[in-house]
Amino acid sequence: MYHIDGTDYLKEKYYKKTQSVCPECLQVIDAEVVEEDDEIWMKKTCEEHGFFKDKISSSAKYYKWTHFGTDEWNFLKNGEANPPDCNSSDPRGCPYNCGLCDEHLSTCSLALIDLTNRCNFNCNFCYANVKKAGYWIEPSLEEIDRVMKHFRNKSIPTPAIMFSGGEPTVRADFPEICKMAKDNGFKEVICATNGYGFQRKKGGLEFTKKCFENGLDTLYLQFDGINNETLEKTRSIKNLKPYKERVIENCREVGLTSVVLVQTVVKGITDLEIGNVIQYAIDNIDVVRGIVYQPVSLCGRITAEDMEDIRITNADVIKEVDRQTGGKISINDAWYPLSTIVELGRIVAYLADVEPVEFTCHPDLLAPIEQTL
Ligand code: SF4
Repeated sequence: MYHIDGTDYLKEKYYKKTQSVCPECLQVIDAEVVEEDDEIWMKKTCEEHGFFKDKISSSAKYYKWTHFGTDEWNFLKNGEANPPDCNSSDPRGCPYNCGLCDEHLSTCSLALIDLTNRCNFNCNFCYANVKKAGYWIEPSLEEIDRVMKHFRNKSIPTPAIMFSGGEPTVRADFPEICKMAKDNGFKEVICATNGYGFQRKKGGLEFTKKCFENGLDTLYLQFDGINNETLEKTRSIKNLKPYKERVIENCREVGLTSVVLVQTVVKGITDLEIGNVIQYAIDNIDVVRGIVYQPVSLCGRITAEDMEDIRITNADVIKEVDRQTGGKISINDAWYPLSTIVELGRIVAYLADVEPVEFTCHPDLLAPIEQTL
């Protein structure tokens, strides 16, 4: 495959200088991204805490394809139409200032609001729920409305909103919040959920119907696998399969046909279920719109050796999709980074006379598998 300058980039060794942070003291330090044995690694040295390395991709070929492709299709905005969100005045700048600072080069496509840190689950790796945090935090309706207006009043209004938590549907006023989102002009209203409100044996169907009627478009449904044993390992709860199935059934019943299965990928546990989840999605294609893979975040206290053992990259997921579907979704298919749909989005927005949704994000974000389904 040839780069725009004529070089065959699959044959060239990948090398890039960049900056990162020391995982111990969080100081910004120089880093290198290098190709070694068909893998891509980041290497960096902190003067105080020494040398660190971490695997970025288990396939140099795949990494070069996505990164060089997006170099050629440079969709990043210049940031002028994206006034900074953050008021922090930390003189060190990015990444110590929170929010969208003026070094952020793309507009906000998806607003995310944590509605609560309460949750009916208590997953062992979670740091977001009230039981682990030790305090309860829940914005009022007035505060939520203010945040929504902030996103809609930007010079390029944010078109989509996702409610997260904790578990957002433990709030009794969740249907009201969906309506508030539509009233504020959000085109796509999404709920990141373990399924709680939608699956309840008493009232789950009515709750699903009410949310749908009030403007909920999509469920971003936690879905680690189809076997109870797997779900028990990740969520520490027995017999979760019927719980997840009730969500799908209730969505089907009320006509909510946009469920995205979100699989947290943990090496040796949920990665073994990648093929099962794809088959489940195909079997329920009238309701399931796609699958999103979220490699488990390795951001807590963990040794470098353990991290290397359980690190899972996009390329690992692609290899497993190929293996577990018997090559029906092949590693040799083109796995495009999300940013490659920018031009298509512009055409659709022009034809439909709506605000463009521009996913000018990092190339390590893959297009979800929904296009394949
Ligand atoms: S379901 Fe989500 S929010 Fe609730 S405990 Fe598990 S990871 Fe945390």
